[in-house]
Amino acid sequence: MKKIICIVFSAMMVLMPSVAKDKAPKSEKVNNIILLIGDGMGLGVAGAWMVDRNYEPTCFDRAQFVGLSKTYSLNSRVTDSAASGTAMATGHKTNNSMLGVLPDGTRLGTIAEAAKEDGKSIGIIVTSYLLDATPAAFYAHTSSRGNLRQVEEDLIAFQPDVILGGGRCNFTDQKWEDGTMLDKAVASGIKVLETPEEYYSMTSLDAPVLGLFAEGSYPMVIDRDADYLADCLNHTLELLDDNKKGFFIMAEGSHIDHAAHANNTEQLLFEMEEFDKAVNAAMDYADTHKGTLVIVTADHDTGGASLVSDNKDFHLGDSEIGVRYTTTGHTGTPVVIYSYGASAWKFSGVMENTELNRRMREVLLRK
Ligand SMILES: [Zn+2]
Repeated sequence: MKKIICIVFSAMMVLMPSVAKDKAPKSEKVNNIILLIGDGMGLGVAGAWMVDRNYEPTCFDRAQFVGLSKTYSLNSRVTDSAASGTAMATGHKTNNSMLGVLPDGTRLGTIAEAAKEDGKSIGIIVTSYLLDATPAAFYAHTSSRGNLRQVEEDLIAFQPDVILGGGRCNFTDQKWEDGTMLDKAVASGIKVLETPEEYYSMTSLDAPVLGLFAEGSYPMVIDRDADYLADCLNHTLELLDDNKKGFFIMAEGSHIDHAAHANNTEQLLFEMEEFDKAVNAAMDYADTHKGTLVIVTADHDTGGASLVSDNKDFHLGDSEIGVRYTTTGHTGTPVVIYSYGASAWKFSGVMENTELNRRMREVLLRK
C-alpha cells in the first residue's frame, strides 16, 4: 500500500510542476498597480478581438487569473461609466451619472487619492478627454458627471503626477477675471503639454503634467497614424519608475465604448488592437519589475456583442464569424477581470465591482 501511495505521489510530482509553477498563490508585496479599463469591453468585444487575431495569443491569453465583475449600479441594473468608475475607484456603488459621491452627497475617497497620500505616484491616461466619467471617477466628487466645472476643479486640486488625454477646450472655453481653467492649472504649478511628443521628450518629472493633446476627445485609432495608449503608458512607466514608493496608474481604452455604441466592428477592432498593445506593455513591465500587479477589466459591457456563424455550415473550422450587437447602449452582463503579476491570484472569483477596489486597496496601500 505504502508503495502504491509512493508511486502515485511521485507521479503527481511529475505532473504538478507546470500547474504549480504558474498557479501557486504567492502573497507578493504589491508596490505598483496598473489598472487598465476597456470602457464597454464586454466578453463579446474581447472575444471578437481574439477571433480577429485568428486565436493567436492576445493580451487576454496572458492573464494568470480571471474573475467576473458584477457591474450594476445603485439605481440601475445597467450602469454607466460614472457609477461603475466610482465603484472601482472608491469601493462604493452609487447612482448612474454620480462621481465619487453617494446619492446623499457623502464624499467617497478614491484609491488614487489614498495611494497619493501613501507617497505613491499617480498616472491617468485616457483616449477620450480628461474630464470624461472613467478618469473623473478617480479624482472628482460631484453628483453629476455633466458638472464639468466641478470635475475640472477637482482635477486641478488633486494634481495627479501625470494625466494625459484630450479635452483642451474644456479648459479654455470660459474666461473669468483671473483667467481660464488652463491659466488656473498653470498658476497652481501644473505643467501643460500640447502633444504626446512633448511628453515623450521628458526625462524626469519636476511638476505635475497635464497633457491636453486634442481640443475634444483624442482621435479614434481609425482617424490617426501614430500609436498612442501604449506609448504614453510606456513613457509614464519610465517616469514613475523613479518613485521607490511605487505608483497607481489607470489607463483607459475609452473609445472601445464609443465604437461599441456605434455597433461599428471595424472601429472596435482598431481600438482593441491599441488596448491590447497597452495591456501587453503593462504585463511586460510587470515581468521585469517585481511587485507590479496588472488588472485588466471593463466598467460595463456596451453593445451586447455576440459572435455568430456567418456560414450556413458552422461545423467548418474556418467558418466566418459575424459580430452581432443586441443594443446601441450598455448592458448588464458581468465583465471579466484579468489579472497578472504580484498577488494576481487574489483577483479571481465572482465579485461585485466594488470588491475589486477593496482587494486593490488591500494589496497596495499601507494598513
Ligand atoms: Zn458608454
